[in-house]
Amino acid sequence: MDEITLIKMIKIDFTLGITLYLGFSIIILLIWIVSEWKKRGTVSKVNKTRSLWQCPTCFYEYVDSCSGSISKCPKCKTLHKKREKM
Ligand SMILES: [Zn+2]
Repeated sequence: MDEITLIKMIKIDFTLGITLYLGFSIIILLIWIVSEWKKRGTVSKVNKTRSLWQCPTCFYEYVDSCSGSISKCPKCKTLHKKREKM
């Protein structure tokens, strides 16, 4: 193995190392972003799940696990829009 071949090999190794390092960094960054995004999603979901609902039809108050803006009353089974109690 002569010197030129060795230098070429080191160069390839260096380039490969940089590429792997950058790729790894990007993957770590993506995982971090996804985990942060998931955390925020969970927090906002938890806040929404604890909302108190009042049925406008039978005035029954209940806590719905549904995070949407439409809820189903467990008493009279009617669908109604979100209306939080003050
Ligand atoms: Zn109702």
